[in-house]
Amino acid sequence: MPAYPDIGLYIGGAWRKTRDTLPVLNPATEQVLGTVPVATRADLDDALAAAAEGFRVWSRTPPAKRAEVMLKAAALMRERIDAIGHTITVEHGKPYEAGRLEVIRGCEFFEWDAGEAVRCYGRVIPSAPGIRYIVHHQPIGTVAAFSPWNFPMSQPARKVAGAIASGCSIILKAAEETPGGAVHIVQAFHDAGLPPGVLNLVFGVPAEISEYLIPRDPVRMVAFTGSTSVGKWLTERAARVMKPALMELGGHAPVIVCDDVDPVLSAQVSAVRKARNSGQVCTSPTRFFVMEDLYERFTSAFVEKAKSIRIGDGLDPATQMGPVANHRRIEALEAMVADGRARGAKVLTGGERVGNRGYFFPVTVLAQAPDDCMAMTVEPFGPLAIINPVRSLEEAIEKANALPFGLAAYAFTHDARNADRLTDAIECGNLSINTLEASVAETPFGGVKESGHGREGGAEGLHHYMVVKNVSHRMDIQ
Ligand code: NAD
Repeated sequence: MPAYPDIGLYIGGAWRKTRDTLPVLNPATEQVLGTVPVATRADLDDALAAAAEGFRVWSRTPPAKRAEVMLKAAALMRERIDAIGHTITVEHGKPYEAGRLEVIRGCEFFEWDAGEAVRCYGRVIPSAPGIRYIVHHQPIGTVAAFSPWNFPMSQPARKVAGAIASGCSIILKAAEETPGGAVHIVQAFHDAGLPPGVLNLVFGVPAEISEYLIPRDPVRMVAFTGSTSVGKWLTERAARVMKPALMELGGHAPVIVCDDVDPVLSAQVSAVRKARNSGQVCTSPTRFFVMEDLYERFTSAFVEKAKSIRIGDGLDPATQMGPVANHRRIEALEAMVADGRARGAKVLTGGERVGNRGYFFPVTVLAQAPDDCMAMTVEPFGPLAIINPVRSLEEAIEKANALPFGLAAYAFTHDARNADRLTDAIECGNLSINTLEASVAETPFGGVKESGHGREGGAEGLHHYMVVKNVSHRMDIQ
């Protein structure tokens, strides 16, 4: 069994420890895996100075060379997939196979952005004789990035890939709950020969670190994935110093099940997807709006599948769904179930913590829940699905759009007219039809409304880490 990595800060190309530390827990056993160092102000000052030097070197490094280092680091991570997958499973709880898949997904982000690094084309604007207008895309500078705990490796991978591919340096504060995934990324880049200072990793008290870093030089941009409330707080701090913010925030994904699909198959696919990452995904399918003719069959097939999902320690090969991240998530989920029940919703399966050691919570289904109950309006961020009947596509669209979120949305239909209407009407950044996969490396991912702004991945991703500079060049002085 691979050992849990030794967690350090990585500043200016070297690992370091600190006096103060926080424990890292395995959510399946509640046992301590190790400790995460808490950065002091002096550590953060060192990271800022290192990132300034890193940017000086890296922004002048040819894009093809940047891509070469990124591809080498990704290849190392692929070689180390068993060790990284194990780290992800013990610190986050997800099944080991899911941890390994996360490593592949993270590597795909690096590989895609490495390819994009050499394709950040500018533009030559048609002009009069004797003058040229040329538009350049240049790296913005140092990025202060904050990644969450739900995907310990692929979440930091998104930010690191975007920053490094575009020629920026980055100070990453990864999640203290799951620091190991980021440590593996940094070690792979270290081994691949990334110059010192380009990638720096810190941990500590999140609000203190972000408040300290955001206004300071050489930080030029803030990137965050996490809750909408923290995203707003960070955006406010960035706005005070006029720095752009890339925000991937919360969702509450609707799933519209039209009356032309197989209700059993779509329900089974949905229940399995709901269990992914124990529902702790910003794109997790949550509010199901099912045409009333299919409602009973869809709901009973969903519940049957949900009951069959085996919960346990991610290291047990039989486990299909691991624990949730911590006791706070259990409390939040139980409060949503209690509120729903009190307001007339039926709890068709689940609803309570499983056991009293490890943070296990089963796939839970609420049916006929009022539109304004807590589960229908607050992101559950756990394995909770609400299944409600609707009478028409227009009613489903209205309910889907009723919340301030707009990240992922899904539909099951084989009717091109339904798909066309949904494409026009659903307020979201990512609509998936007949699949519950919301994002892959080659597609742009991000939200509308309070789910954030900016995109990661796709051809759009790197542009958020770059600034546009227009050069007007007259041949003769005039
Ligand atoms: P939280 O909002 O306190 O923390 C979420 C993440 O943000 C953590 O990794 C934390 O370290 C970081 N964070 C918190 N305050 C910060 C600050 N001031 N500056 C910088 N980083 C900060 O919530 P939580 O209880 O840990 O997680 C539950 C909620 O977080 C969920 O309701 C969900 O909406 C959200 N979340 C979203 C995603 C996502 O992918 N969009 C991922 C994880 C958590």
